[in-house]
Amino acid sequence: MNTLNTQPSQTKILLVDDTLQNLELLSDLLKRKGFNVRCAINGSVALGVAQSGWADLILLDIKMPEIDGYEVCKQLKKNANTREIPVIFLSALDSILDKKQAFAAGGADYISKPFQIEEVLVRINNQLAIVAAKQKVCQLNLELEQRVRERTSELEKTNQQLKEEIVQRKRTQKKLLYLAMYDPLTDLPNRILFMQRLNNLLQQLAQDRLPFFAVLFLDCDRFKLINDSLGHFVGDQVLSEIARRIKICLKPSDTLARFGGDEFMVLLSEMSDINQASRVAQKIQNQLQLPFEVNRHQLFISASIGIVLGNENYKLAEHVLRDADTAMYQAKKRGKACHQVFNPKMHRNASKRLKLETDLRLALKREELAVYYQPIIALDTGSLIGFEALVRWNHPKRGFVSPVEFIPVAEETGLIVPLGLWVMRSACQQFRIWQHKHSIQQLKISVNLSVKQFYQPDFIEQIDRILQETQLDSQNLKLEITESAIVDNAESATLLFQKLRQREIQLSIDDFGTGYSSLSYLHRFPVNTLKIDRSFVSRIGKDGENLEIIQAIVTLAKQLGMTIVAEGIETTQQKDYLKALDCDEGQGYLFAKPLPTQEVETIFDNLDSLVTMNV
Ligand code: C2E
Ligand code: CA
Ligand code: CA
Repeated sequence: MNTLNTQPSQTKILLVDDTLQNLELLSDLLKRKGFNVRCAINGSVALGVAQSGWADLILLDIKMPEIDGYEVCKQLKKNANTREIPVIFLSALDSILDKKQAFAAGGADYISKPFQIEEVLVRINNQLAIVAAKQKVCQLNLELEQRVRERTSELEKTNQQLKEEIVQRKRTQKKLLYLAMYDPLTDLPNRILFMQRLNNLLQQLAQDRLPFFAVLFLDCDRFKLINDSLGHFVGDQVLSEIARRIKICLKPSDTLARFGGDEFMVLLSEMSDINQASRVAQKIQNQLQLPFEVNRHQLFISASIGIVLGNENYKLAEHVLRDADTAMYQAKKRGKACHQVFNPKMHRNASKRLKLETDLRLALKREELAVYYQPIIALDTGSLIGFEALVRWNHPKRGFVSPVEFIPVAEETGLIVPLGLWVMRSACQQFRIWQHKHSIQQLKISVNLSVKQFYQPDFIEQIDRILQETQLDSQNLKLEITESAIVDNAESATLLFQKLRQREIQLSIDDFGTGYSSLSYLHRFPVNTLKIDRSFVSRIGKDGENLEIIQAIVTLAKQLGMTIVAEGIETTQQKDYLKALDCDEGQGYLFAKPLPTQEVETIFDNLDSLVTMNV
């Protein structure tokens, strides 16, 4: 639509009349009022002018030859270019029928002849105002539509962004969920997911909707060795391969999970009996026995497997796991590379052990430990050579607990390190006190050393500190260590022995003959003393049988310049035979049991009587 010019001078009015007089008269009037006026003498001319775009308003005579005003108006209204131009009819006839027809043809208004100029102007202006208003509405509509379009596109854009964000979030969520539930190295379920599945199974079992299931706890044997020697990259590859091999032994309905490190868990669904589970365990072990080829290395792996048959007595997944772990631990104890089925006795033992472990931790703090001293005697003269310090535990409920029971626990838990240091410090301190009171400078105090203690990185510093604190001369200290501890780590043992030698600390091999037949090894170590194990001494019969081994040990030790101590001498015959074999020293109930501090004092008071009494 053409924009309407609101100034009269720019408003183009087309006058259509076949009477020239009328045209002139009206044209003059309007021009005087400032309108831009054009005249048309008939309908065809008028249509042409309107079609050309020159007309904001048309004053149209009705009565014309050829095409009358109605027809002209109809044609104007038919054409899109001219449809909006307001048409005011000019009529001499003032009948109702004409008006009706005029509006029907599309006219906007009509003026009756003869004209009154004021009326003409009012009607023209009215029409122009209507057109202007229409244009305004149209304009506003356009603007509104434009704004709606803009807003719609903004919304669409936001909508799209939101959709993308949702997709992104879902992706992140999925990834997080995966990380929370799966092991990234092997892509296997992790502990959390495994426990969820196990708990679900237990719930179903409780509702009697399932056959039994079994759980296998698999721990690789000596895996640390692979990581330590070949690095974690190789270690990781081996773990992935282990996962793959276990998987091929399982049904799709079973769950294999990695619990971190070299620990794997298997949930075997639909197990009718334990033998079925054992067969799967065996299958896995067979798979793992095949060599592993990783990074041009050929490796051999074995694993220990604990097996538990899940039944309705289990309420918690943790308990199934605990028992599988206990069984696995038993498999390790049995020498690894095997599987072990859990039985409730194991659980009782494990609980007992755990209790012992907890109590032992407290024992150190609560001062329930004491050191007893067992005299060591020279077999030829019967004189006192020294003492072996032996730890005792007075348990608040159980009374005396044997070191045979708690020392292995202390070793496994690492508690042996503080415990052993405590024994050493106490013994050195006590010995120093005795040295002050009695003239026993030449006596030696023997302290047992666990392998764990021996290979502590600051072991030597710790000994130095204790000697310094207690002011005991290092020559008075003797350390007892078992032969297996030395043989397993011959190189580092040699180094440590040299350091101890420099300090003039004596060294003794304990329980000799029980571990390795390491007679040939002996010359490599700067050891002062061999302690023949009690088992050899106790086998000495009344007629002196079983002496050959002792004889061999004594002969060899003498050649290497070592002193021989026999442990566990209980009878005079044993003592006599040992003496006859040229064994230097002895220790045993025949002379004295391990004694508490006060009783040792009595010995010092009657040193002479002890010597003469038993020899
Ligand atoms: P062990 O070092 O071989 O100690 C000798 C054991 O033989 C002691 O047992 C002692 O009481 C016992 N014994 C001594 N004479 C006789 C005898 O004539 N007949 C019999 N049947 N036994 C005798 P205990 O005190 O029960 O200690 C057992 C083991 O516990 C020790 O064997 C030692 O391996 C360990 N142990 C004891 N105290 C300590 C300690 O402070 N540190 C470390 N690391 N181990 C210790
Ligand atoms: Ca000993
Ligand atoms: Ca011993």
